[in-house]
Amino acid sequence: MNTQDRIRKILGLLDKAYGAPASFAKDDPVDVLIRTVLSQNTTDKNSLKAFAEMKKVFKRWDGALAAGTRRIAGIIKHAGLANIKAARIKDILAEIKRREGKIILARLAGLDVESALGYLESLKGVGPKTAACVLLFGFGRPVMPVDTHIFRVAKRLGLIDRKAGIGEAHEALTNIVPKHLIYGFHLGIIEHGRRTCKSQTPRCGVCVVYGLCRFGKKEYFKSRYINDT
Ligand code: SF4
Repeated sequence: MNTQDRIRKILGLLDKAYGAPASFAKDDPVDVLIRTVLSQNTTDKNSLKAFAEMKKVFKRWDGALAAGTRRIAGIIKHAGLANIKAARIKDILAEIKRREGKIILARLAGLDVESALGYLESLKGVGPKTAACVLLFGFGRPVMPVDTHIFRVAKRLGLIDRKAGIGEAHEALTNIVPKHLIYGFHLGIIEHGRRTCKSQTPRCGVCVVYGLCRFGKKEYFKSRYINDT
């Protein structure tokens, strides 16, 4: 079975186990950018709460740009690292306004993927994952954001080299996952990482993709065997 067929099979099995991911709906790119900054080093629950608070207080991003860093930090306190994230958000909003004249990212729609990623990653505090999230969720572009779950699960499944760094993983997965499946792969693999293929204790014994997983077949059995003898 080639890699693309294996990916299709894995996603089919994950869909059956967890339900198909919500269908794609484009978000405002600046919203995606700020939401992703808030999500750094915290849970979705906390970052989404912080994002909802921000949107409640600031109807437009110009309002956040005009607000003091301490005020923003108070509003986003649920996301953790509030002072750092508040300063980062203000820097990003200010830089977008400086470049675009207003706080919108519509111009990225006309750029090729590499140029759009370059634009976003040149904003202070924006790395490859955040940039990829903006392109995928804000524009529907076929770029794979690689978070900690995707990085771990893709390695265990043997989809990327075990020694690959995060940058290589981003590029490799963007290239090997069929373009129309990138969105579903992103959501499905994160769900699998949270529920089953956990960082410290992967639940290989109940995993629906066990038969397609190199880690499950080799390392897991090896560790069981060593532990049992
Ligand atoms: S078999 Fe184990 S390591 Fe492989 S994907 Fe499933 S839970 Fe993860």
